[in-house]
Amino acid sequence: MTSIVVPACEGRAVHVPRGKRIRVTTPKGAQAADFFAYNAASIAEWLSPPHTWVTTFNVRPRQGDTLLSRFRRPIARFAEDGAGGVHDFLITACDQFRYEFFGHKGHHSSCSENLILAMRRLGHEITVVPQPINFFTNSAVGPDGRLTSPPNTVPPGGYVEVEALIDLICVVSSCPFDLPREGWAVNAPGGPTELTVEVR
Ligand SMILES: [Zn+2]
Repeated sequence: MTSIVVPACEGRAVHVPRGKRIRVTTPKGAQAADFFAYNAASIAEWLSPPHTWVTTFNVRPRQGDTLLSRFRRPIARFAEDGAGGVHDFLITACDQFRYEFFGHKGHHSSCSENLILAMRRLGHEITVVPQPINFFTNSAVGPDGRLTSPPNTVPPGGYVEVEALIDLICVVSSCPFDLPREGWAVNAPGGPTELTVEVR
């Protein structure tokens, strides 16, 4: 079994062979985990929530869902939800531009940068940041389509397990979002915390 800690505001890549599961845990609770997955044999193929939700008919990932790539192939399965369904398919990975948009001055770590750096450590230069699955992220869509991110309710020890249906490279980012925004809580009020990742 591989076991790693993803420090707060950082990202890590890990190989998940076909048939194995990756378990992502928020030990302190309420920490958004941006999750990306690539076909290990060809990283031009990646996990795609928008391609998945037209087959699962839900804008939220749910236990048992088959997760499709952008080529509409089943590449993973959301095998176990130990976080009460508090997950998001809709919000793009945060990036430098988003923090600047909110008025932040200077560099801010981001899930997009974490993904690029984690893939670079494996020798892959990526130029596109896919739509992630945002595990442990509380988003809500109102009847009129209004999108909000209410306070994060995932308890300490909340976890998810994703089964690889092909050999995957998975990247997990501890979302560094820490700006106080009305109706947009994302992480715990105390700021970002670490995640743990196990492959078994
Ligand atoms: Zn983020």
